[in-house]
Amino acid sequence: MSRIVYVNGAWPPEAEATISVFDRGFLFADAVYEVTSVLDGRLVDFEGHMRRLHRSLRELAIPAPVDDEAMLAIHRELVVRNDLREGLIYLQVTRGAADRDFVWPADPTPSLVLFTQAKPLADTAAGRDGIRVLTIPDIRWQRRDIKTVQLLAPSMGKMAARKAGKDDAWLVEDGFVTEGTSSNAYIVTRDGAVVTRNLSNAVLHGITRAAVLRLAAEAQLRVEERPFTVQEATAAAEAFITAASAFVTPVVEIDAHPVGHGTPGPVTRRLREIYLVEARRSAI
Ligand code: PLP
Repeated sequence: MSRIVYVNGAWPPEAEATISVFDRGFLFADAVYEVTSVLDGRLVDFEGHMRRLHRSLRELAIPAPVDDEAMLAIHRELVVRNDLREGLIYLQVTRGAADRDFVWPADPTPSLVLFTQAKPLADTAAGRDGIRVLTIPDIRWQRRDIKTVQLLAPSMGKMAARKAGKDDAWLVEDGFVTEGTSSNAYIVTRDGAVVTRNLSNAVLHGITRAAVLRLAAEAQLRVEERPFTVQEATAAAEAFITAASAFVTPVVEIDAHPVGHGTPGPVTRRLREIYLVEARRSAI
């Protein structure tokens, strides 16, 4: 089945969707994106994704192509047109097309593209059994808080993991884990604290992270937002990742060391469950 996508006000079938070769997203990765999960045909944490989109746009002085009300209408229309029950909506805003020049055009007309990806999210082997990660140097730029489409470093990281027979990679800088290639990274210490890197320019400010930390605190878990080392992670009781596309996914092995008993731990399983209930409840 061919998807219907959204491109600058039009709703073409995916094979007929086009964007200019001069689009700065294509030439300079001068573009930001969001990925929103869909459960039961409804959008999970839409407001959070819009808030972060505006922050990314503001940091790069890209004008918003449409207002939030229109953005919500486009998301919903895309769900309906593609009969999406479970999966992802990818949204990209670029600075638009202009003759190639490193200097930004003075009065850009941003491009807006959205498409769906139907896939199971709630009931997956990774969610149930966990994933194995490889640690690799974090070679990305220093504004990881902006969700730009320059994703070659994480893409190379995922390929390195794949080559090593692992599911994904965790990125390490100065001995400390920053985050996963496309997720935030966590450990659960042996005395039960949930630890994840504090927010800064070093990591993406995950929308799932914000929800999971709030739910963890509500569940009376101790939360510590601070850097942790690979050594601390391999010695931890549990580890997991969060992302809109993964919710809470257990990490059962780091660099061939089993984490805890090498199976998803109770805190991680509980957080996944709590998160899923809340995501379904609050989806719009
Ligand atoms: N960190 C990185 C580098 C990511 O690419 C992502 C998601 O794609 C995340 C964290 C998780 O963010 P969110 O929970 O908003 O999906």
